[in-house]
Amino acid sequence: MLSQRVQNIEDSITLTITAIAATMKKEGKDVIGFGAGEPDFDTPEHIKSAGITAIQSGKNKYTPTAGVIELRQAIADYLLRDQGLAYAPSDILVSCGAKHSIYNMVLALVEPGDEVIIPAPYWVSYPDQVTLAGGTSVFIETNEAQGFKITPAQLEAVITPRTKLLILNSPSNPTGMIYTRAELEALGAVISKTDMVVISDEIYEKLIYGADEHVSLATLSPQLFNQTIVVNGVSKSHAMTGWRIGYAAGRKDIIQAAGKIQSHSTSNPAAASQWAAVEALNGSQAELEMMNKEFVKRRDFMVKTLMEIKGVTCLTPPGAFYTFPNISAYFGKTTPAGTTIHNSVDFCNALLTEALVACVPGSGFGTEGHIRLSYATSMAVIEKGLERLKTWVNSLT
Ligand code: PMP
Ligand code: GLU
Repeated sequence: MLSQRVQNIEDSITLTITAIAATMKKEGKDVIGFGAGEPDFDTPEHIKSAGITAIQSGKNKYTPTAGVIELRQAIADYLLRDQGLAYAPSDILVSCGAKHSIYNMVLALVEPGDEVIIPAPYWVSYPDQVTLAGGTSVFIETNEAQGFKITPAQLEAVITPRTKLLILNSPSNPTGMIYTRAELEALGAVISKTDMVVISDEIYEKLIYGADEHVSLATLSPQLFNQTIVVNGVSKSHAMTGWRIGYAAGRKDIIQAAGKIQSHSTSNPAAASQWAAVEALNGSQAELEMMNKEFVKRRDFMVKTLMEIKGVTCLTPPGAFYTFPNISAYFGKTTPAGTTIHNSVDFCNALLTEALVACVPGSGFGTEGHIRLSYATSMAVIEKGLERLKTWVNSLT
């Protein structure tokens, strides 16, 4: 009875694990959650107030499908100020989160038989969105030694006449890795020789902790500007995951096509959320700095502690709020409860049931041998969770 379309995809593993951990907590179990990819901080007060004011002043009706002009203007101003990218409000489509923005783009561009290049590890939703559109995902494998970043030669090797799209994500979920300007220029030289479109998922662009700079592919040349759809949103940067505001900026014909799809599916994102997002982009950015200061402390502690666990290796992620340690040294080992660990799913399942620590298996991101831990949770929780992880790992035989 169910469509083939839905039978071809899986539930989002990140959301599933977050939900399982929440249910266990409700049942009174003392679960430590490293699953959720969302800031633990609350939305800043001035942004919440803007949402409340919008509701109280009667901004409760449908808005234009693409979003109120004030928000699209705020996004255009932001992209110009932040990255020197010049878009008109009509080049921007506001959607119900960046996830929705990407899905609209995939639906607007991909048809059955089209190939979409996705570097792995990838964010879980990309391949399933491509599958829903009837396209074929073509993965490029990367590993720790190459910093989980694809090379121009790897990209060139997978391009075919059916290549329609490339989905790039920097800073990356799940690895936190960031492409440098030089690396992007080298990839850009390959991309410029084709007519593929690039979805540049820049949702973690404000979550960078050291000297690395965020560079958007769209800034590198007029041609790359035309080939790139920049996707971003306020979920991560402004602790607004529940408000559901993301956006895409790019070539007018693609943006309008995606808007047509949105006009028949969700219509506009929630009006109050849009007004809160205007304040997020135009108002004070002071909280952002505070959040980043906290994230960097947690990252440093988490990486150091993971590296102290025998057999575990972990790169220091320069951005986002995840670590992606290699735990493959424990494959083939047996847990105290008698489970043999064959892969990252076994590892995470046993870790959750036996030690009450929730992590996401690397296979969900297309890279076996790793797990993802989010450090968007308090230092006290991180300390307790890592202690449990360490004790449990040391008990494997
Ligand atoms: N892209 C990446 C890489 C993400 O990690 C997320 C977070 N879920 C999103 C897009 C979507 O974010 P949202 O829909 O909350 O804006
Ligand atoms: N992006 C977050 C994560 O990867 C949120 C969950 C999701 O939307 O998949 O955990």
